[in-house]
Amino acid sequence: MEGRFIVKLPFKTEHSRCQNGKLFEMAARRFMSLEKKLQSNQDFQREYTKKNSVKQVQGIEFKNEIKQLRSRGCVPKESKIRNLCPIFDEIGILRVGGRIQQSKVDYDTQHPIILPAKSHLSRLLIMNAHKKTWHSGPQIMLNYLRSKYWILRAKDQVKKYYRECTTCIRYSKKTTQQLMGQLPEVRLKPSPPFSSGNIKDCLE
Ligand SMILES: [Zn+2]
Repeated sequence: MEGRFIVKLPFKTEHSRCQNGKLFEMAARRFMSLEKKLQSNQDFQREYTKKNSVKQVQGIEFKNEIKQLRSRGCVPKESKIRNLCPIFDEIGILRVGGRIQQSKVDYDTQHPIILPAKSHLSRLLIMNAHKKTWHSGPQIMLNYLRSKYWILRAKDQVKKYYRECTTCIRYSKKTTQQLMGQLPEVRLKPSPPFSSGNIKDCLE
């Protein structure tokens, strides 16, 4: 036991016969308080759900990397995320190691969360970035995303999403131009001013 006690969802009362009585009581109390907080605070609930989804996706996509990083402190040589020097944060999410720890930017920007190129979560985040940046181009979407997430091959994925956005397709289309008719002879023939019309005609 490492001083941590994990309560799995859904909460079941038969587990109360657990031998580590006090630890269990403490975990149950924490669980109840977490549930209360989740129900009362919408922002906290959204953040909690997001981080859980990230952990699930990373657990599936970077299974070997997580295993080796925990046991040996480094990821396998052939791993796609090796050059990102991945690290774990306090809740066990894989983040980019990076070299900007001395900077004053926030933690999420210093160490963005690593996500695979093709996962439903990555696509949802790209979709959200496109909406939050008011249907802007790939570069602005990338900047927005990278303040929190490092999606592998993000450039390709972002460009693909941008190309497929129906709103952007509709607004990027050029409007058709009306084919103009022939100009009248008086507008083409060189002549002195007012020779083909006069102010008197206009005033009447
Ligand atoms: Zn769009």
